[in-house]
Amino acid sequence: MRAVQLVQVGKPLEDAEVALPTIGSSEVLVRVAACGICHSDAHYRGGISAIDLLPLTLGHEVAGRIETVGEGVTHVSPNDRVYVHYLVSCGCCDFCLRGHEQFCVKGQMIGKHRDGGYAEFIRIPGRSVFVLPDEIPFKHGAIMMCSSATALHALNKARVQSGDSVAIFGFGGLGFSALQLARAFGCRETYVVELNPAKLASITEAGGIAIDATAGDPVQQIREATGGKGVDVSIELVGSAITMEQAVRCLGVFGRAALVGLTAESMSILPYTDIINKEAEIVGVSDHLAPELSALMQFARSGALRFPQDALRSVDLEAAQINAALDAVGNSTDHIRTVIVPRL
Ligand SMILES: [Zn+2]
Ligand SMILES: [Zn+2]
Repeated sequence: MRAVQLVQVGKPLEDAEVALPTIGSSEVLVRVAACGICHSDAHYRGGISAIDLLPLTLGHEVAGRIETVGEGVTHVSPNDRVYVHYLVSCGCCDFCLRGHEQFCVKGQMIGKHRDGGYAEFIRIPGRSVFVLPDEIPFKHGAIMMCSSATALHALNKARVQSGDSVAIFGFGGLGFSALQLARAFGCRETYVVELNPAKLASITEAGGIAIDATAGDPVQQIREATGGKGVDVSIELVGSAITMEQAVRCLGVFGRAALVGLTAESMSILPYTDIINKEAEIVGVSDHLAPELSALMQFARSGALRFPQDALRSVDLEAAQINAALDAVGNSTDHIRTVIVPRL
């Protein structure tokens, strides 16, 4: 079968002809219908995130059709449309048994620790695939598997409720989904803090209240907009100490700050003013869970989570096109997502 692989870190991905995977009794073979090209794939290619296994087929945002199933798999059948949960977990360690599979001691991310979806087929445990509702296109199913799912996990971890006010820091892929999902949860005002003029302009269109961080302290702006109260929930998606501090400082009484962005910087907050005196909480968010994905599908089905037609671009399963998309992914300000659609 055809695959596009990372052969050498720091070099362009390469077209490869590889053996069709053979599946075990608990596994399925999925014919890839769509695989999202993600910012983290550019990091793997560039050596910013370490990759141990080479050559490696990248791709962790996958939807497709079941080709074959192992004899132990009963919940899906050949030709079923499915989406693929990207974390392969063991299902039997302490973390898995408690429902915290993102900390599985043997956890493997597809397209990072094992071959992913930049290929005609992917081999995956049966327990990692779920039926994709007919009305959701493969492309949408694929791109929801990463940033939208993690945005949902962040809102869940922050225990967001209908009527809450929310501040989202950063309007990239995660922020775009977080805003739509916050509205789907029935949140009242949803503020989105950004620096980038193009992104700021698109926030209002997406139903958020834009807070221009270049126009003054965003915490002050949020306090003024909320009559001094602050917000119930904040979601930090940028990954910088400054925005993390702001995400904590903009909270009101009983506020919850969910930190999603990655940084090695230290942050500084005032324990009494920022946390104790408000009974506020800071929550870490790491990845998402398979059981959350069905809720995501419901939001997509109801139209609460939308991916405008012009925001999706398709490329072939071909190294040159995929490398070009990976080159562009870091500078994107427009929420356009590129999806690999292998021609049959
Ligand atoms: Zn991704
Ligand atoms: Zn486990």
